[in-house]
Amino acid sequence: MTAIIDEQNTATAVTDFDAIVIGAGFAGLYALHKLRDQLGLSVRVYEAASDVGGTWYWNRYPGARCDIESVHYSYSFSEELQQDWEWSERFAGQPEILLYLNHVADRFDLRKDIVFDTRVNSMVWDDDASLWRVGTELGDTVTARYVISGAGNLSVPKTPEFDGVESFRGQVHLTGNWLDENIDFTGQRVAIIGTGSSGIQAISEIAKTAGHLSVFQRTPNYATPIVNGPADPDVISAVKANYAQVREASRNHFLGVPYTQVQPSALAVSAEERRRTFDERWNAGGFQLFIDSYQDILFDKNANDTIAEYIRERIHERVNDPAVAHLLAPKGYPYGTKRPPLETNYYEVFNQDNVTLVDIKTTPIESITETGVRTADAEYEFDIIVLATGFDAMTGPLMKLGIVGRDGLKLSDKWAHGPRTYLGLTVSGFPNLFLITGPQSPSVLYNMPLAIEDHVDFAAEAITYMRDRGLDVIEATLESEDNWVAHALEISSKTLLPETDSWYMGANIPGKPRICLLYVGGAPAYRATCDDVVANGYAGFTLDRAAVPVS
Ligand code: NAP
Repeated sequence: MTAIIDEQNTATAVTDFDAIVIGAGFAGLYALHKLRDQLGLSVRVYEAASDVGGTWYWNRYPGARCDIESVHYSYSFSEELQQDWEWSERFAGQPEILLYLNHVADRFDLRKDIVFDTRVNSMVWDDDASLWRVGTELGDTVTARYVISGAGNLSVPKTPEFDGVESFRGQVHLTGNWLDENIDFTGQRVAIIGTGSSGIQAISEIAKTAGHLSVFQRTPNYATPIVNGPADPDVISAVKANYAQVREASRNHFLGVPYTQVQPSALAVSAEERRRTFDERWNAGGFQLFIDSYQDILFDKNANDTIAEYIRERIHERVNDPAVAHLLAPKGYPYGTKRPPLETNYYEVFNQDNVTLVDIKTTPIESITETGVRTADAEYEFDIIVLATGFDAMTGPLMKLGIVGRDGLKLSDKWAHGPRTYLGLTVSGFPNLFLITGPQSPSVLYNMPLAIEDHVDFAAEAITYMRDRGLDVIEATLESEDNWVAHALEISSKTLLPETDSWYMGANIPGKPRICLLYVGGAPAYRATCDDVVANGYAGFTLDRAAVPVS
């Protein structure tokens, strides 16, 4: 239904829903709750999976866990929820996070408005009626005034780049699309390709039971200890006694965690003091070494060299064979310019007799064969191959939605040379579309549940503002978008990020434009900008009545 003539003979657009939400992970679940239960909108969520969870639904590989402390990596929107929920570990594993998201879905009665097993594959803006037509792979189309994308940043695994994958006679598993928790590696000959965060988590677990595990490493990573363990009741009580302040402190921190020890410069202190600081943060675990040691490590190559060298030394201490340690120790790119993985016992795994490191930088994989993997200088036989080769990050999930904006403009064409957004949340030419943790927002450099809440709250506030004024259409201006893109790129150019081929730069996908996909100015600066935009009546946006009023 697009338009009908009412009794007063004025055209009125009828939408099936006020809002469509895409995805039922952290973002989609909160968006549904916010829009439906707080704004009173009619909302439908489409989810490709058979249940809620998003990332935590699809990534059930052994060892998957969050790497921001669970008391922080969780929703803050409900005081009752955050008081009631008990995390069993400092950093919860995937099963517990999925349990949590299921609890949230039940607690807020969200499932009744989620359509599972249904992937959105087209979204077309109807300019005459000022609404989105959202189509699914099942062939149905619904209309809505607003679309909120919670499609995620790391939800489209990279297509395997190796010839012959389909010919392999054993099992092939992708860490980013792993639904079976019960794969038995006991006594099996296992290959794992990729040593990013997913690969490193999986390797530590699979090495416990595999008959033999061969780790195919192209680029070594700066992995540092997560220091996980049972949740400390004293820490939990202290956080729960002051949760509101803890969340406030998190939101005022670059990464969205309430860390307070960061010092200005690694170069302003003696080598001894620097070593003490690095040791303390290393022993504390989590991202404290990365984000709570020295502020200049992502900006100054000399400062970065100090921490990179420190991590290399620590790797050498943990690996018995100096030649293997040499291969595992990253060099040639600065620490933190690829997303740093956190690990448990990762380097010690390479001291086990059942684990071999294969350096595919010098001898690349040529193909996957019927029986295993062929590199430039050897053939290996396996029963199971695990691909931990990463994702088409940030833009990939949005490109899959088939988004077409005003005047038939395809998002894929508009973004042919890289994403262009205003605030990483909206796109000029694509009205009433909110990209939760979209490209050019802090997203993955901000504690994700909080980043998601901030974005959903922004969208909800904008919708409320418009409804209060009889307005229906919000759209970023081209000028504000151009300025935001330039601003985001200028900030990233002052960091060391552009030096490195990483998924942050789109450089992990052959042919993808090489451009920084993140806003690197930190969550506090970003939030202040968003607050200014709102305080100034949605500066940088046009707000209009619909051509055809909504009924
Ligand atoms: P990733 O960081 O992109 O790592 C992919 C790995 O596969 C890299 O080692 C890469 O090597 C290798 N690789 C890719 N294509 C290859 C090819 N054709 N030949 C050989 N090697 C290849 O992917 P990820 O490990 O899935 O992690 C992605 C992101 O997900 C993380 O950075 C993080 O943000 C998130 N994540 C978070 C957690 C958590 O604890 N919260 C856990 C897992 C993932 P090169 O480096 O040489 O390209």
